[in-house]
Amino acid sequence: MADCSETLKELNRFLDDELEQESLAELTAHLTGCVDCQQAFEFHAELKQLVRRASHEDSVPPALLKRIEECFGDDIAGDGDFAN
Ligand SMILES: [Zn+2]
Repeated sequence: MADCSETLKELNRFLDDELEQESLAELTAHLTGCVDCQQAFEFHAELKQLVRRASHEDSVPPALLKRIEECFGDDIAGDGDFAN
């Protein structure tokens, strides 16, 4: 069983659609029994959706986007699909 920090790393890869089926099963298994990771998962998923949507529309002020990026830079902006 993976630990929490391991799971959170996988989580980011999952949100980027980079996770293999096998790792996905482990991730799901851990989430099922770990409320902390469940909450982190939901938070990250929502945040990522917000940023994705915002980067396609212009409805979110650039200043806010920048703050989100600064707070969570490595997690959500490090893969390059947020740059434009
Ligand atoms: Zn956990």
